[in-house]
Amino acid sequence: MNKRFAASDAAAGIEVTDAFEPFSQMNDMFTRAFWDDSIRSQDTDAFFASYRTASMPRRGEGFTQKDFALRNASWIVSDLISNRNNDDGEREGFQAPIRYDTPVAQTQVAVDDVDDQAREIKSLARMFGADLVGITEIDQRWHYSARVDTRGFSPVPNDLPPGLTHVIVMGHAMDEDLVATYPSALAGAATGMEYSHEASIVIQLAAYIRNLGYEAVPSMNDTALVIPYAVKAGLGEYGRNQMVLTREFGPRVRFSKIFTSLPLAVDPPKPFGIRAYCDICTKCAEACPPKALPFGPPQEDSTSVSTIKGVRKWSADCEKCFGYWAKLKSDCAICMRVCPFNQPKSTIYGRLFNRLATSRFRKLALHLEAKRGMAERLKPGRWWKRLRGVTGLSD
Ligand code: SF4
Ligand code: SF4
Repeated sequence: MNKRFAASDAAAGIEVTDAFEPFSQMNDMFTRAFWDDSIRSQDTDAFFASYRTASMPRRGEGFTQKDFALRNASWIVSDLISNRNNDDGEREGFQAPIRYDTPVAQTQVAVDDVDDQAREIKSLARMFGADLVGITEIDQRWHYSARVDTRGFSPVPNDLPPGLTHVIVMGHAMDEDLVATYPSALAGAATGMEYSHEASIVIQLAAYIRNLGYEAVPSMNDTALVIPYAVKAGLGEYGRNQMVLTREFGPRVRFSKIFTSLPLAVDPPKPFGIRAYCDICTKCAEACPPKALPFGPPQEDSTSVSTIKGVRKWSADCEKCFGYWAKLKSDCAICMRVCPFNQPKSTIYGRLFNRLATSRFRKLALHLEAKRGMAERLKPGRWWKRLRGVTGLSD
């Protein structure tokens, strides 16, 4: 147990055990798909290749050349950043932090009030396009023990500049209608769009902080696990579907981060009852096609090397999950789509469900959800018709 963070771990519902080991990025599924022969296959190679060209559609609605084309277009800004230093083995935003193009100013703007400074940073993050913002302290436990040199997929030191103290964590809401079409290549556009948004937002906000005279490292999936940071920064709770469930958007959010030396007030974790609802709900696990999600209580152990050791939590069978993605040639988030916290808060039922599910009446919410059944997939063809403003046509 880490005594310094014990109180905030408990408040965040994070249980770290004596078996804890920092996670090496060599073991994440996307990295293993390049070096681990037990993962790499024709399917995984075709999965990655499909992000470069849309000319290899698979059968089925939502997997046409047009669906892949839109998905790949949505990723393109993120790709431009992550591919620009491939020759140095740095896939920025994924297997290396984003290189900053702005030097740290030699004069430093004084920070007299950390609360005020935090309010300013949060407002600017929103101005640049973030939907959620929270701030927490740097906690080395969540940093990869090694990052990956993508030239030979080998481990290299995961160093950051000295003096970093805080992490600004940002949430980016995914498009509701696109998410409703999972599983499809079309739905992958919701993921790609937010990575592209993230890339520009973290670069812009980090450039602002660096111009103030403080260190700031823009980061997406690289460098550290973002889930514990998002939970610690008060943005949501960890759910059975391996995602951070937020009050505002449920699980339909991606997260980015900036490591900084700027003095800032931190946010406390804010549990509001989602985790307690996950204890009694198994909708995501039931809906998962390869049955990669657990049905029982959180466990300390996992059979997958792609899971961090020594944290009691719900853990997916990552190999089964990624195997399904590889077959689809696109990301899957059925477990996001069917989660009842994903339903719109604009409907009376959506608001009622949220209220009941996060209160002592959560079993009533569970009962209502059982009657409602699984959230239906929006047919990709219908999504395209809506886009073109075609109405009144049957599916
Ligand atoms: S992403 Fe798809 S395959 Fe993976 S756990 Fe969720 S539903 Fe299952
Ligand atoms: S579907 Fe149910 S169990 Fe799964 S994350 Fe959502 S609320 Fe939790």
